[in-house]
Amino acid sequence: MEVYVLRLGHRVKRDKRISTHVALTARALGAKGIYFDTYDDSVFKSVKDVVERWGGDFFIESVEWKKFLGSFDGLKVHLTMYGIPLIEKIDEIKKAKKVLVVVGAEKVPPEVYEMCDLNIAIGNQPHSEVAALAIFLDRILNKTFDLEFKNAKIKIIPSERGKKVVEI
Ligand code: SAM
Repeated sequence: MEVYVLRLGHRVKRDKRISTHVALTARALGAKGIYFDTYDDSVFKSVKDVVERWGGDFFIESVEWKKFLGSFDGLKVHLTMYGIPLIEKIDEIKKAKKVLVVVGAEKVPPEVYEMCDLNIAIGNQPHSEVAALAIFLDRILNKTFDLEFKNAKIKIIPSERGKKVVEI
């Protein structure tokens, strides 16, 4: 299954750090790429810099979100605390070949609830887009601990204590 992420509502002044974390979480847990509704040079540069050093072919792009969401040719899943619990729909989602996961920053436009095929909750309590995305990707792809990042320049050697990083 291929999973892509659409990040809505990024505010250049307020959301740099959390939007970067959304993108890095998407990459680290197996999504193919992330689309933003707003171009932010510093966020895009730092994500591309991670890909350059840590490998893989994860992409980050900006799109006109309504047009993009309307024409996406796969299952569109909006993550929202108001939605249906993931465990009730997980089998249906796992059957899809291509999934777009939509996460918000502030309140998402109401039409997102209509345009998406599923509105899915990761628990019905308010928390964070980073947490919601991480749990979603882990449950759907189940490869958090089994991912390869090709053409990496650096890599971690897991160790009980301290930090071991090698250049490849
Ligand atoms: N107050 C906003 C609202 O009414 O939609 C919530 C903003 S929340 C900080 C940012 C994003 O985190 C949401 O758009 C949603 O994608 C995600 N999120 C937060 N809690 C969630 C939950 N329990 N389940 C699924 N997604 C959640």
